[in-house]
Amino acid sequence: MLKQLKLAVMGGTFDPIHYGHLVTAEAARCGFNLDKVVFVPSGRPPHKREKNITPAEDRFGMTTLAVATNPFFEVSRVEIDRPGFSYAIDTVTAFFDYYGNSIELFFITGADAILEILTWKHVDRLMEKCHFIAATRPGFHLNDINNLPEQFVEKIIFMEVPALAISSTDIRRRVEENRPIKYLLPESVEEYIYRHHLYR
Ligand code: ATP
Ligand code: MG
Repeated sequence: MLKQLKLAVMGGTFDPIHYGHLVTAEAARCGFNLDKVVFVPSGRPPHKREKNITPAEDRFGMTTLAVATNPFFEVSRVEIDRPGFSYAIDTVTAFFDYYGNSIELFFITGADAILEILTWKHVDRLMEKCHFIAATRPGFHLNDINNLPEQFVEKIIFMEVPALAISSTDIRRRVEENRPIKYLLPESVEEYIYRHHLYR
């Protein structure tokens, strides 16, 4: 029998992508022997609908620059090219439609995202289709996960990652206020932000 490809989806708005995302994805790759991590920039995040989000092509471009130096990382346009709000269930279904049963699928989230999982569309179907990896993130407590239904909690895999108190919100604010963002994200992404006058 052919070996199943172990593939992970790293979902996010990536506005912009930063070292918190990259460290988390790499920790999951090594920790769970993943063959590849696919970064999936959200087309239209349903949970950020009232917010001003940078055009998808800029977020896709920055994500592509950020993963360029890791041969195990890829970026997918699947959510950007799909009209309407971006739901993880549609993305995961698209991966299985493409790969068939030749893959074992993981979905990587940070602690804040996993705590909101009940608000995700068709969460029970989603949990059946892939393994959820919940990474530690400064400011959020994975213990709070015990407030979720037990059948979900027992399926979630916990992962400790080096604590990086970095968020895209903070990076956007820093740019707006002319404060440094150096060392919070890859230099190529920093250059992209300044060259395209993002977050001004
Ligand atoms: P924003 O502040 O705009 O919400 P963000 O920094 O939270 O941006 P997202 O694109 O919302 O980034 O997050 C994508 C995924 O990465 C989520 O699952 C989130 O929990 C996780 N993540 C983001 N930053 C970190 C971090 N510093 N450590 C661990 N996980 C993180
Ligand atoms: Mg976020």
